[in-house]
Amino acid sequence: MRVAVFSAKPYDKEYLAAHNRARHELTFFAPQLNEDTAPMVKKFDAVCCFVNDILNEKVIKRLAKSGVKLVALRCAGYNNIDLEAAKKANIVVCRVPEYSPYTVAEHAVALIMNLNRNIHRAFNRIRENDYSLMGLEGFELHGKTVGVLGTGAIGVAFANIMRGFGCQVIGYDPKENKTFARVGHYVGLEDFWSHSDIISLHCPLIPPTYHIINDESIAAMKSGVMLINTSRGGLVDTKAVIEALKVGKIGYLGLDVYEEEAGLFFEDYSNRVITDDIFARLLTFPNVVVTGHQAFFSKEALAAIAITTINNIDAFAKGTLDQSHVVSV
Ligand code: NAD
Repeated sequence: MRVAVFSAKPYDKEYLAAHNRARHELTFFAPQLNEDTAPMVKKFDAVCCFVNDILNEKVIKRLAKSGVKLVALRCAGYNNIDLEAAKKANIVVCRVPEYSPYTVAEHAVALIMNLNRNIHRAFNRIRENDYSLMGLEGFELHGKTVGVLGTGAIGVAFANIMRGFGCQVIGYDPKENKTFARVGHYVGLEDFWSHSDIISLHCPLIPPTYHIINDESIAAMKSGVMLINTSRGGLVDTKAVIEALKVGKIGYLGLDVYEEEAGLFFEDYSNRVITDDIFARLLTFPNVVVTGHQAFFSKEALAAIAITTINNIDAFAKGTLDQSHVVSV
């Protein structure tokens, strides 16, 4: 198959090429796939996309016109695709449903450990030759209640680690699963917000979860709660979170994703001014740690993503694509 790989970084080329072993003709495009770049897709059977490529109706129609039959996502989330349009255009969309959930879960824990012991501030202080401890007081995780919103593959991996710290783990998920119930217990949403000392988001971004963290849910949380989002930016109403940080209702915030991250994350803008005032405000809080959508970024996950992506393309070509990897409306 001739495959146009968008948003291609050097590490994408390295891992995809290593696992492709010349089976498919991969052409790498550095830009994001969107309405402006869709015309670059000429004479390709498939496109391979990542989290911030924008496959709206216009782009899908353009891809279909160019002969594209498959969108092979090299990620788990698929909120950036108009699935209705893809169905109408007879384009199959597949993804990598699960690749080392430990990679993302461990990153969520890294954000927690950074925030609760002020590692980010200590790092800067020591570099300034300042060894004072005022303001760096932390808290123990042992005995705290950790809420897991979304108890799928990553939520369960995360719950297991937090259990190891001696935390009480509670979870909320409309589809309960037995694996989670072995380490934590399910509660209703009201109890979930009001009992958690730390809340970690692991549900997908779908219409019912859009801005699930909003003024109302924040009001129901414990004062000084720690909120961690390694899932998708759109789960959090950033303005509401900023207001809650200002009054201490949210005591700690760890983000790997941000609702307006497309066009910002994955690029080097160190010589430019930030024009997103909301994001700039977030970065002013001493109790906020932001990473740029790197929770997936481990050697193990990159290899697993590349293997499944290439296998998906292979299987599509042979007509044997695993239906659990297909995303449809
Ligand atoms: P999964 O499908 O295994 O689990 C998601 C869980 O969320 C499911 O159990 C589902 O029932 C639950 N859910 C659905 N609606 C919900 C709701 N309203 N409230 C609570 N739970 C709800 O997915 P996963 O592999 O665990 O991944 C979770 C998310 O992590 C993905 O959707 C993706 O957005 C994100 N992710 C982020 C990165 C990163 O680099 N930051 C990497 C991979 C995945």
